Formats: sequence, structure tokens, C-alpha cells
Amino acid sequence: MIVIMKQSATSAQIANVTARIEQSGCRVHLSEGEERTIIGIIGNGRPLDREQLERMDGVERTVPILRPFKLASRDFHPQDTVVTINGVTIGGKQLVVMAGPCAVESHDQLLETARAVKEAGACVLRGGAFKPRTSPYSFQGLGEEGLRLLAAVREETGLPVVTEVMDPHKVPLVTTYADILQVGARNMQNYTLLHAIGEAQRPVLLKRGMMSTIEELLMAAEYILSHGNDRVILCERGIRTFEPYTRNTLDISAVPLLKQLSHLPVIVDPSHGTGKWRLVEPVSRAAVAAGADGLIIEVHPHPEEALSDGAQSLKPARFAALMRSLRPVAEAVGRTL
Ligand code: PEP
Ligand code: MN
Repeated sequence: MIVIMKQSATSAQIANVTARIEQSGCRVHLSEGEERTIIGIIGNGRPLDREQLERMDGVERTVPILRPFKLASRDFHPQDTVVTINGVTIGGKQLVVMAGPCAVESHDQLLETARAVKEAGACVLRGGAFKPRTSPYSFQGLGEEGLRLLAAVREETGLPVVTEVMDPHKVPLVTTYADILQVGARNMQNYTLLHAIGEAQRPVLLKRGMMSTIEELLMAAEYILSHGNDRVILCERGIRTFEPYTRNTLDISAVPLLKQLSHLPVIVDPSHGTGKWRLVEPVSRAAVAAGADGLIIEVHPHPEEALSDGAQSLKPARFAALMRSLRPVAEAVGRTL
């Protein structure tokens, strides 16, 4: 349930309602908008009497929330959440493009890619150090050495970095190097990891599981939010269907749907969403047109030599062309790039 306070409600009245809710054993989430305050009720306390709450001073009305996600819900938090990291804002008018290799392979590879994507307008560098590979014989990532290279290239280019963490015990280590912690599709429902990430002091990029519903994605976000980390960015990266021509089927309707259901920023990964570099540019334009707050795109200076995901990686020149082709689309939907 949420309690919508009157525009004229005083802070003493808000405190009274909060105390009443807490007495029942529930927790309170306050959303102080420009016009009015909304009090969200979370947890399994003793049932609260709606009519009694509505009789309290300053209360305009109560609304039952039937959906299982609360903190992630737009009902609880009507304003868009804007996540800021090192001067980059995600979820505002300006679109954010994160780009870089699937995996960090070497200092030269990472620096060359970072310089190129920055020049083209990307403002966050991506790169995996711990890679969740289907085969145990595939390149697993450089591990901590990869994190050190990401930090070194951040120093050299000024780009904040996003990188995946797969193991809850590695969250403190990855947090010392990364600006944004990525939860990969395969780990979207790893609840121990979500708990650890929820306690980390870093923004999180939460990717939709390849077999997960929108509601499961929002419940995974709810785990992170309920452990105290409110800087969650959602990512649509395609789901598994019967279609073999693409690696995944990018669910474009997830973008406006997530924006309607939640206040969290939503970005799209057209690289994993399609698995084919030739599809990355048109699908990126579709994502922006559908209202995405940004994109995360794989770029490699020599995709044919990439240790992972070469088939979906753009060469730097193609990435620059993509950025140019996105600008008019961004403008058409009232965004800047
Ligand atoms: C990645 O970003 O390189 C990655 C492994 O993505 P996903 O978890 O979406 O498959
Ligand atoms: Mn990849």
C-alpha cells in the first residue's frame, strides 16, 4: 500500500503516519516529490487498516499496491531515478552510451578501444574481467589483472568503467576498481550476489536473465534496492526464443514497459540482444526510439581476433557511424546524445 499525503501535509503529520506504520512492524519508504510526499509501506507487518490511515491528519488517500515489487515500482517513486557517476548521469535527458570490448584482453586493446569510443561520444567504458562463459575451455577473462587494466585506462581516458561481478565474495574486490557493477544475465537470480551487491556502495547495471520475465527482472532489482542500494540501472539484453538467426530475441517492448512500471533507468544491449554486428546499429536506433535511457555496445579494434563475442563486436569506425546515426533519433524523441 502507499499513502499519498496532501500537498499541505506538514512534516509532523508525515512523521505521525510513518510512526503509525512502523508500529505495525512494516518499513516505510518516503518519496518526497515536488508536489507531495508518498509513503510506501514495505514488509510483512501486521495488517494496516486503510480507513484508519485515511483518517489521519495530512493523509489524502491510500492506494493498495498489488504488484510484488515495491521499491522498484513507479507507484512508490513517481519521479525518474537519475544515477550519477563521475559526472555522467543515467536516466536524464542525455542518453548514455557505454561501449568497449566484451572482455579486457590487454592494455593496448583496452586503451585503443576506450580512446576510440570516447572520441565517438561514449561516456562509460565497458569490459569484462570475469567472464561467464558457456564452455569452461573458453577464455574466462583476466580476473583481477583485467580490473587493474580497467582502472589504468580510466586514469588515461577519464571514462568511468562498468564490469561484471559473478561471485558475491568478489564484490568488495570489484568495487575497489569499478564505477558500475554489472550483474550478468546468467546471474540475475543469484540472490546471494544480489544481496552482496545491494550492500555495495556502487551503482549497478542489472541485466535481464535470458529466460526471465519483466516481473522477475524487477524482483531482482527489488533485492538490490531492499538491501540499501538505490542506484540500479536495468538492462534489456534479449531473451531466448525459438529463433536461431539471432543470438537472443531483443524484447523492444520491455523498454517502454519497464519505464512505465518502474522509475529506474533502462538501457539496452543490442550486442548480446542480436549477436550480430550488422544488426547492432538498426536495433540501437530502435531502442532509443522506444525510450531507452542508453545503450551498452561491444566494440573491438579487431573483432576477428576477439577472445569473446567477436561476431557481435563493432569496429571503432562502425561504432562512430552508429553514434552519428543515433543523434537524429535521439532528437526526435526529445533526448540529447
Ligand atoms: C557481457 O556483457 O559481456 C555479458 C556476458 O552479457 P550478458 O550477461 O547479458 O550475457
Ligand atoms: Mn559479451
